[in-house]
Amino acid sequence: MNNPFENAQKQLAKAAQLINLDQNTLNILNQPERILEVNIPVKMDSGEIKVFQGFRSQHNTVRGPAKGGIRFHPNVSRDEVKALSMWMTWKCAAVDIPYGGGKGGVIVNPKELSEKELEQLSRGFIEAIRPIIGPHKDIPAPDVYTNPKIMAWMMDEFSKLEGFHNPGVITGKPIEVGGSQGRGFATAQGGFYVLKEAMLKLNKKPEDSTVAVQGFGNAGSLLAKILSKEGYTVVAVSDSKGAIFSEQPLDIEKVADYKQQNGSVQGFSNTKEITNQELLTLDVDILVPAALENQITNENAENIKAKIILELANGPTTPEADEILNKKGVFIIPDILANAGGVAVSYFEWVQNLMNYYWGEEEILNKLELIMKKAFDASYSAYKKYDTNMRMATYIVAVNRVASAMKHRGKI
Ligand code: NAD
Repeated sequence: MNNPFENAQKQLAKAAQLINLDQNTLNILNQPERILEVNIPVKMDSGEIKVFQGFRSQHNTVRGPAKGGIRFHPNVSRDEVKALSMWMTWKCAAVDIPYGGGKGGVIVNPKELSEKELEQLSRGFIEAIRPIIGPHKDIPAPDVYTNPKIMAWMMDEFSKLEGFHNPGVITGKPIEVGGSQGRGFATAQGGFYVLKEAMLKLNKKPEDSTVAVQGFGNAGSLLAKILSKEGYTVVAVSDSKGAIFSEQPLDIEKVADYKQQNGSVQGFSNTKEITNQELLTLDVDILVPAALENQITNENAENIKAKIILELANGPTTPEADEILNKKGVFIIPDILANAGGVAVSYFEWVQNLMNYYWGEEEILNKLELIMKKAFDASYSAYKKYDTNMRMATYIVAVNRVASAMKHRGKI
């Protein structure tokens, strides 16, 4: 199995070489500043006490407090959390918001927990990592299998322990308790904005473009909805149980309702069941990995037919696969740019929490489009200037910004 942290380090090493980053800076950036390992006891409904292991990694805080989601998943590991926190440093720098990179995770299958157990685990995790988080230290958010409800419990727990209302400690909250308009679909919306810029640069039209989306969760399903509305033809989607394909455009609203009722996209009428592997290698124009990391590997990269890959998931492409795809001329919009809309609106949420004044959806979307367009343009300029691919170009922009902040602060 590919180690995501080694992948993250390899990507950094490549970018460092391209910009002649000095070795001292690289040595610092190669490891997280801090990683906290915690064990969270939860009294299960049966009366048994189970202890769940969790982590919070802060990769770099030179540009601002650490920022990054909390993942509840059985495959969470120390190295996965470290990798995700490093990617968050680059992501926040790539879209130029004043944050460093952090990430948290708990090794658990939340689908096996009752609501009460899940709440205890969420509150327990926040209590355990409380010494290193806070609105000016490290601000968590949702990630795989965590959601606004969990964020509300976590904010409540932190506020209770601190002794005052503290909405700025976490983002991705429900609107009623300090969440932002637009946060629910921000990742998808941001992905849409950068795809729009890429389509313009590549002279491609939505109405001539077919799309396959791997992972029909928060990010993937909402992007599929937006793309359908914007004239793209979504022909395949999938979730952890399997994938569906249709020659005709999928009615994404109906697929979403179907998944809501049946727990999976599988079995949706008038579609062919295919595997997740088959979905990745479909003959489509745009492929959107929106599930987990390491989905596009040296085993399937050669067979990928899409001309554009929009990486809504974090780390879906291994470095080996990346090389194969680059040789094939696939235009990859890398994760740290493609899915940065989530953290951008998280930033807006935090700003609103700190000033206790709230913006409407239109204002949020205008601000988001501006940030994503500026970020795409910066990456695209580096792509042309360094004659490289978009991933490296985005890394160059991000690493340069972080290295420059380190220099200004006298860290090197
Ligand atoms: P989610 O839990 O809402 O959805 C994940 C989806 O992927 C689910 O539909 C699940 O069934 C599916 N899935 C799991 N394993 C799969 C597999 N092997 N093949 C196909 N599908 C599979 O999570 P999400 O929030 O949508 O996050 C998805 C990805 O996007 C993650 O990599 C996450 O880090 C990234 N991301 C999410 C956000 C956000 O705001 N939600 C922001 C940035 C990045």
